[in-house]
Amino acid sequence: MLHDATPCTEHARRTARTRMARLALAATVAAGACASKGPTVMDEHAAATTMVNTQIRARGVLDEAVLDAMARVPRHLFVPPDLHARAYDDTPLPIGYGQTISQPYIVGYMTEALQLTGVDRVLEIGTGSGYQAAVLAELVPEVYSIEIVPELAAQASRVLEEAGYRNVQVKAGDGYQGWPEHAPFARIIATAAPPEIPDALVDQLAVGGILVLPVGTDHQEIVIVTKTPEGAVTRRTIPVRFVPMVQERP
Ligand code: SAH
Repeated sequence: MLHDATPCTEHARRTARTRMARLALAATVAAGACASKGPTVMDEHAAATTMVNTQIRARGVLDEAVLDAMARVPRHLFVPPDLHARAYDDTPLPIGYGQTISQPYIVGYMTEALQLTGVDRVLEIGTGSGYQAAVLAELVPEVYSIEIVPELAAQASRVLEEAGYRNVQVKAGDGYQGWPEHAPFARIIATAAPPEIPDALVDQLAVGGILVLPVGTDHQEIVIVTKTPEGAVTRRTIPVRFVPMVQERP
């Protein structure tokens, strides 16, 4: 399923800043008489800010735009309701269908590695919950995201829309082949691990572009690929554990 991408204006950015406050307020109002026991604006915004400072900044992610974006995104909306209380914890969490939402620090690390200042469009492989897509949508005008499990693609699309992110297009399909109709991309991020870097993703990267992805099977690392006029330059960084990138048979 597709949703229209609209440019991310300064107005949209300002609106995004109040998004978490509005959503938390709506949750509190909906809780009615139980409001005092339910989540509050302060609880969730404070939880996101604490998450950013203690888990992400403290470990060396220092890009203020990334940190601000992660403080704004209402992460609890992207996890199953029974895990809301753990949404801002220092851990990945299950999101159904055997998949997980990544640990906040890893989202921060990979997003910083993308160097998004001035970037117009980003492709993500592995929408999952939609959380990483929301972080990207806070930072760039156009986000394209592909998810191979159709139910997760539908759910992420719905949550992103409800959370007010209008600049993300989610497609159900195999991201191994990229999204040629919208290529080239200034940046590409994969949040599922292929055994090797997929050629299609390097092909669909603009010259000067950056691809960030986990690579490997038993042993995985975040790999940062920079596409220069002379070819791709690859740098292996931190060890990680991601779900495998499934490759559909041709
Ligand atoms: N970025 C996600 C976490 C991703 S978990 C978030 O913020 O929640 C990895 C996701 O990649 C899973 O949902 C899995 O179904 C998906 N995936 C695995 N192989 C894929 C492929 N070939 N194409 C697209 N998505 C894939």
